[in-house]
Amino acid sequence: MVEESNGTRYKRSRAAFMQAKASIPGGVNSPVRAFRAVGGDPVYFSRGEGPYVWDIDGNRYVDYMLSWGPLIAGHAHPRVVAAVQEQAAKGTSFGAPTLIETELAEAIKAIFPSMDLVRMVNSGTEATMSALRLARAYTGRSKIVKFEGCYHGHADSFLIRAGSGVATLSLPDSPGVPGDLAALTLTIPYNDVDALRLLFQEHGEDIAGVIVEAVAGNMGMVVPDHGYLQAVREITSAYDAVLIFDEVMTGFRVHLGGAQALFGITPDLTTLGKVIGGGLPVGAYGGRKEIMELVAPLGPVYQAGTLSGNPLAMAAGLETLRLIQEEGVYEGFTKKGQALTSAFQSFAKKRGIPVQTTQLGSMFGAFFASVPVRDYETAKKADAERYRKYFHAMLEAGVYLAPSQLESSFLSLAHDDEVIAFTIQAMEKAFQQLN
Ligand SMILES: *Cc1c(COP(=O)(O)O)cnc(C)c1O
Repeated sequence: MVEESNGTRYKRSRAAFMQAKASIPGGVNSPVRAFRAVGGDPVYFSRGEGPYVWDIDGNRYVDYMLSWGPLIAGHAHPRVVAAVQEQAAKGTSFGAPTLIETELAEAIKAIFPSMDLVRMVNSGTEATMSALRLARAYTGRSKIVKFEGCYHGHADSFLIRAGSGVATLSLPDSPGVPGDLAALTLTIPYNDVDALRLLFQEHGEDIAGVIVEAVAGNMGMVVPDHGYLQAVREITSAYDAVLIFDEVMTGFRVHLGGAQALFGITPDLTTLGKVIGGGLPVGAYGGRKEIMELVAPLGPVYQAGTLSGNPLAMAAGLETLRLIQEEGVYEGFTKKGQALTSAFQSFAKKRGIPVQTTQLGSMFGAFFASVPVRDYETAKKADAERYRKYFHAMLEAGVYLAPSQLESSFLSLAHDDEVIAFTIQAMEKAFQQLN
């Protein structure tokens, strides 16, 4: 195995992982970090700067994982660091209102016009679970629709998939999620308008809302079929169900204004996270005034947080939003994203290896698959063994990709042409090791 052949390169990381496992479940604080999908032991990072990270053995990598999306300005951007340092010196948390919370809320509203009111929380998980509670309160209904392969954080209601495509037989993905609660989450395939229409014909009166990653990023990157999101909007409107766009990943990534701006769809509620914290823990939810007005203290729907809107995250997020609104940023992302995906396609073609790629703005995806990936079923068919080899070959060549094919890759402002060229060279070497 590739990852077995190079023991000394990752010596310190290996020892660190062994030690961590004695005190942390599986050695990690979030499961996918453990490299289970690609084999081998995780690499321990000690430092990041711009497009690069360094591991504790001193190896340097170009980073396309970027903390799973937040670091759109790159690692330790001097302006983000300065904003955080300045704020830290004035106090890290007050549990009382601060001016910067309003500033960030206004900045978000200017970019996401569908959000009349915005509430800050501490993670994407908190944002989606709060949006779900609100949708239920607003409609007085209890069922929720989610799509197979879409990830909305780890709250109980979202850890559900449908048993053999039968939406009414919702089974929890995780022990500990009560069956009675799981039964309220109806799950159908992404990109399937007919399945959604049928589901609403049967359960429409009980459905509080539909939550969707409008561009899916957590089963690899999967784009919506032409007209799909429009149909989702029409169906939810026809039944007065709340449409929640979970843009925790896609917000500021596929387009400055997220998937909703890119596809011209107005959801009722939006959840954000990742980029709006600039690398600090954050989440947000917001949307139509008449729905958001139900949130306490304005309305009866309770939701709170000791550290919500904390000034460090607000400062990092606000500075990050300023940076990505500079001239030419998204044109640059698109150009670089296309350069990477087309290089990937052409190396694959040369070796007769079937691949599929997707790219929008600063987000891109690649599957070792012979048919276009449209949903979770097709995503799961992608060749995991080939990705495992590719991942480790790229790691050796100094490029850090997500440790699973069913994840998206990200660009930052710091990924310049030189970094892209280095990556393409690494790709060429990695493909030589594939068969
Ligand atoms: C990452 C993510 C979440 C969860 O956010 P956390 O901050 O990890 O809790 C929710 N939804 C989507 C689409 C995500 O990508």
